[in-house]
Amino acid sequence: MEKIRLCFATNNSHKLDEVRAMLPSQFEIVSLRDIQCFDELPENQRTIEGNALEKARFIFDKFGIDCFADDTGLEVESLGGEPGVDTAHYAGPERDADKNMALLLANLEDKVNRNARFKTVFSLFWHGEMYHFEGLVPGRIGLEKKGDQGFGYDPIFIPDGFSQTFAELGTDIKNRLSHRAAATRQLAAFLAG
Ligand code: IMP
Repeated sequence: MEKIRLCFATNNSHKLDEVRAMLPSQFEIVSLRDIQCFDELPENQRTIEGNALEKARFIFDKFGIDCFADDTGLEVESLGGEPGVDTAHYAGPERDADKNMALLLANLEDKVNRNARFKTVFSLFWHGEMYHFEGLVPGRIGLEKKGDQGFGYDPIFIPDGFSQTFAELGTDIKNRLSHRAAATRQLAAFLAG
């Protein structure tokens, strides 16, 4: 049976592998490189949803193909949802994970409420219509960095139901629990019809 081509607007091989493994097998998930897109995708919006939509719309407008894009943020309750859309560059444009975590821990120093959640949004253009899928992982920010696996804010994020950080729990457990996995499951259910 001929595969249905769908572009995931990323060149991140970890994300491509994770999503390919979870989507129905009749879909051929192609990257930006596969469609000969070498542009820097625009991310000029002030919401996670807005940035996912902007990236997907860019590909749809330029290439006219079915495609989806993702955007992720960490939302901390007592900081009014910060870092949110600024998660990747919270402490500055160099997107340094250690500096980002240090700033977040400093901003939480006097806060009792350390509740937080990871949010991933997928925006999909499918047969000319636009759809959104959202994956959430509730948890809290630890008092200090713990663990050495994963990336980004993993050493300070403790998902609900666990006492260890994502970086201590390891990739297998994290990938099953993760916000990206939750959003991908919804996308998979939609595509499976
Ligand atoms: P992106 O939209 O997937 O590039 O994610 C934006 C930023 O969120 C990244 O630069 C990381 O700092 C952070 N982030 C995204 N997913 C995770 C995760 O699974 N663990 C820890 N940090 C993450």
